[in-house]
This record gives sequence, C-alpha cells and structure tokens, in this order.
Amino acid sequence: MTNKDVPLDAGWNFDTSYIDLPQSLYTIINPTPVGSPKLVIINESLATSLGLDAKALVSEEGVATLVGNIIPDEAIPLAQAYAGHQFGHFNRLGDGRAILLSEQITPQGERVDIQLKGSGPTPYSRRGDGRAALGPMLREYIISEAMHGLGIATTRSLAVVATGETVIRETNLPGAVLVRVAASHLRVGTFEYVSQWGDDEELKQLADYTIKRHYPYIASDDNRYLHLLEEVIKHQAHLIAQWQLVGFIHGVMNTDNMAISGETIDYGPCAFMDSYDPATVFSSIDREGRYAYGNQPYIGSWNLSRFAETLLPLLHNNHAEAVELAQTALSHYATEYFDRWLAGMRAKLGLFNEEEQDEALVKDLLGIMHKYGADYTNTFIALTFNQLEDSVLVDKEDFRQWYTNWQERVGRQPHSTEAVQQLMRNSNPAIIPRNHRVEEALDAAVRHSDYSVMVKLLEALSSPYEHSAKQAVYATLPDEECGPYRTFCGT
Ligand code: AMP
Ligand code: MG
Repeated sequence: MTNKDVPLDAGWNFDTSYIDLPQSLYTIINPTPVGSPKLVIINESLATSLGLDAKALVSEEGVATLVGNIIPDEAIPLAQAYAGHQFGHFNRLGDGRAILLSEQITPQGERVDIQLKGSGPTPYSRRGDGRAALGPMLREYIISEAMHGLGIATTRSLAVVATGETVIRETNLPGAVLVRVAASHLRVGTFEYVSQWGDDEELKQLADYTIKRHYPYIASDDNRYLHLLEEVIKHQAHLIAQWQLVGFIHGVMNTDNMAISGETIDYGPCAFMDSYDPATVFSSIDREGRYAYGNQPYIGSWNLSRFAETLLPLLHNNHAEAVELAQTALSHYATEYFDRWLAGMRAKLGLFNEEEQDEALVKDLLGIMHKYGADYTNTFIALTFNQLEDSVLVDKEDFRQWYTNWQERVGRQPHSTEAVQQLMRNSNPAIIPRNHRVEEALDAAVRHSDYSVMVKLLEALSSPYEHSAKQAVYATLPDEECGPYRTFCGT
C-alpha cells in the first residue's frame, strides 16, 4: 500500500451514549448500502467546527461513510423509537428513514448527533421505503443553514450525498442521504413513547439522560424533573418567538418534530412568509391551518402540555400535586414567549427601552401590513433604511399616521439615529430563503445537476444581517403570476 492509498483520517470521534438508554428506545441497525454514491454538497465550515477534515470527507471513503456504505469501527448505528401526536392524533413512530450513525464529540467537547436521513428501512419504517429524494434533502440543507445564519437554534446540515438510486413518489426521483447534525434527536415524542409503552424507571432514565445532555446545570437539583419541564418550556417559547420574528412557518409542528434541546428540527413543508398574514399556510396537507403562522405559539403550548403529561409520574408521588406543578410551569409559557417576542419586535423597530404602548405600536403595524398585503421582511427593511418609496404602504393614510407615532416613539429615547439604525440592521434580515429563490436553486440542482445557484444562495443566506448590495437580488418578491406557494410532505 502506498501512502496515497492510506485512507485520510476524517476526524470522527464517536461515542454512542444513546445505547445507555433502555433498549426499547432504539434498534441497532446499519444503513442499507447504496449503489453509486456521489457527494453533491458539503458544509466545510461546519465540518471544521466538528473537528472533521473536509478533504477526507470528500474522498471516496469519506463519502462512503457519509452515505452509510462504510461504518467506522467506533460507530454503533441505531434507529430511535418515538411516538408523536401528528395533527393531534397519537401514533407510534420512530426513525423510519433515518439512522443515527453515532455521536460526534467535537474539539470543544460538545456532543452532537450525526444522523443519516434517507439511509434505508428500519423496524420503524411502517409502509415507507426508508429513503429520501434529493430535492427535499437539499431543501432541508438550505433552510436549516439559513436558520443558522439568522441566529436561530437549529439542526445543521453537513452534507448531501446522492445515492444513484431512484425513489418512487408521485414520480421517480433521484435519491439522496442528508447528513444531519443535531444537539440530539430527543423529541417530545420520545417521552411520549416511554410514557405510553415504558415504565417509570425507564422514564426516569430518559429524563436523566436528557438533563445530562442538554441541561446539566439542573442535574443535582432535588426537583430536577420539574426544572427539566421548565427549561424545555423556556427554550421552546424562545425558539417559537424567533420563528415568528423572522416569519418562519415550520409547517408540521407534530410532537415528534419538536426537539427537547430547543432546536428547530425536521424541515419538511416549512417556508417563510412573504406578505404578512397570520393565516399563512404553505403545507398542502395542512388543510385546516392547524400549523398556520399565527397558530405556532399556541401549538407550541399544546405540544408542551403533551410533554408535561409524560413527566407527571416524576414530578410528584401524588398525581393531583404533579398536575398542579405541571400546570404552573406551563402557565409561564405565554409570558416567556410574549416577552421574547416583544423584545425582538422592539429591536426590529429600533427601540432600546420599554414603553407600555409598544405592544400596540407593533400590533398596529402588523395590522396595517396585513390589511395591505405588505411583505413582512421587506417592510422592516424599508423602515430600517427609510426607503419606503417602493412599499405598498407609502401612500396609505393609516400607515403615515403609524409612521409618525413610531418616529415620535423612537425620538423619546436618548439614542442617536445611527444607534437606532444599527439596532434595526442587526435585528432585520435583509434576506430570508424566499420560496422562489429556493425553488430556483433546487431546480438547477436536481434537474440540471447545476449546484452553482444553490451555492450562491447559501452564501448569501449565511450572513443575512450584512445588508450589502449583492443581497438585493435575493430580496425581490416572486412574480404575481406564480400563484400561492405550496409545500409538500411525504418528501
Ligand atoms: P416526518 O414527516 O419526516 O417528520 O416523518 C414522520 C414519520 O414518518 C417518521 O417516523 C418518519 O421516520 C416516517 N417516514 C417519513 N418518510 C418515510 C419513508 N420514506 N420511509 C419510512 N418512514 C418514513
Ligand atoms: Mg419527523
């Protein structure tokens, strides 16, 4: 063997702690190998931050590992069991088309899941084929990286590898595996699974594992399970507030798609809102608007109630007392959410301090945007740079009145115009992954194997608060004749 044949060390530093959990929570299983893997995109900066060598990852052996054809010695691949309320209905689920390759310990000592999505059938696949199509995996890559760029907690995307195989959906589509990086894949649905089919000892093991992994600072508290509930409530409330602030619509907020870590997870039919309308729904399967933009904060609370129910046996020996503790904790969700949301809105409007009428000021603006169908992101940008001439709002009397009120409010704080603008620049993204731009990038990639459009889009989305001239092209709205945007599940 010459030097050149020695496989490069990719830097995998695996340790699979998930196998310490009760065996009912997972099945050890390898990904199903694929015919002709081809790397289509790799996230070099993420690789580096994980202690991985991007050069080694793109080598033949590196790609074979990313797609699940080669399993490094230290990995113990497994599929996780979980349950979930899907559109309100409880179901037994699990990783039907994803396998946890292992957990990577980063150079900073953090533990993250390396999950292969689309890696073949598992005991939890039900009627599914365990596979994923290239388009939706690239879509998750784009949107999750955009969320990261926006500073919102999210799973990340390390790579997409085309499998060279066909997946059958409504039509035949090219298959792919997404390599997803997550703080963990513990979900509300993981707790629901144990609550339904496990015993109290298993529940305790799961809760302790979760605390150790995500909330170690409460590990030695006497009432740590109550504190776990409180932490998850707080993290989810803050996460959803951030979604609302950027106009992100998750699309399928089932309890199995809600991470205990507080990261955004499972990018299916998600999309960003253009014109402001609380009723906005993109998902073709969400016919009743359960997961509409304006409902997201309420659904967050509903999901957390399901989480709280699973923890009741750990909160108190007396059921009635446990319920009371859970209800008190849940009652804080609304304030946690609202305070974070209002603080974010104040920043978007350049307000450093607090006045009682601020909520009304924000709501008045949103009402006006809704009335005239103004674009959510671009309205805040127009306010930031005082460039209202292109806005549909410019000649509207109620908007002019609001604008005067806002200017007076801004003027009642001691900060300079520059400081106000800086706050607004840092709080209002110049660009979001606009649906037509995402589609354009996916079309070039999937139909023409041209990844340059996607790479450019990703580059722009990585620094949405830069406010540079080159971003302008991504800030334009779709042509009217495109009609309403629709996203699809079953991806
Ligand atoms: P999702 O809508 O991606 O959150 O998935 C909901 C559930 O369906 C999860 O348990 C998935 O593992 C499972 N699932 C989705 N697509 C497939 C597929 N193609 N094959 C097997 N299971 C799937
Ligand atoms: Mg899911």
